Amino acid sequence: MIADNLARVEERIEQAARRAGRRREEITLLAVTKIFPAAAIRQAYQAGLRHFGENYVQEFQIKKSELGDLPGAVFHLIGHLQSNKSRQAAELFEVIQSVDSERLARRLDEAGRPLRVLIEVKLSPEETKTGASEQDLPALVDAVRGLGRLDLRGLMVMPPWPKDPEDSRPYFRRLRALAERHGLAELSMGMTGDFEVAIEEGATLIRVGTAIFGPRKAKA
Ligand SMILES: *Cc1c(COP(=O)(O)O)cnc(C)c1O
Repeated sequence: MIADNLARVEERIEQAARRAGRRREEITLLAVTKIFPAAAIRQAYQAGLRHFGENYVQEFQIKKSELGDLPGAVFHLIGHLQSNKSRQAAELFEVIQSVDSERLARRLDEAGRPLRVLIEVKLSPEETKTGASEQDLPALVDAVRGLGRLDLRGLMVMPPWPKDPEDSRPYFRRLRALAERHGLAELSMGMTGDFEVAIEEGATLIRVGTAIFGPRKAKA
């Protein structure tokens, strides 16, 4: 089933890239595996995927111990990270996409392992959304660039849940403008419901769960 779903997602990516006049290779598909078991990660790996996104440190700690060796797999933390879990996160993940404060960035740097990081930006006023505000972004970019073990690659955004994929477009466009202003190449944006729009707006990393693995059961 994963292989079939993946073929459909691949077709959607290729069509969106073509519409946008972009090359398929500019876009990395990140499989979001939260709540799904380690076996789902293994299946997606066997289907050819190499980038995986997880939301919860503890959940992934258990799964990773069950995974065995998957050469070339790259694990991204895409969920909010509390500073007190930064050391564990630095051990488990190669990429942290949810850096949103200097304090967290310093803690990740102190964990001692070289890490690729993205800054999560909050572009909507919803109180539940995490991420650095636009006002705080310039100082945070400077701070992260000053930390020796962190390699700042780009920005991540999670817009409000879209009723229509077009609802996300202004957020994606805004994120791209911010990344350009700071000379950052990686744009992590777009999920199952809106990744075509994200590709049109320049996404380099799309984070897709449902379209690959099917619907998730709500986390208790
Ligand atoms: C769950 C999640 C996704 C994937 O969402 P789908 O709609 O299942 O594709 C992407 N990004 C983040 C940050 C998520 O938490």
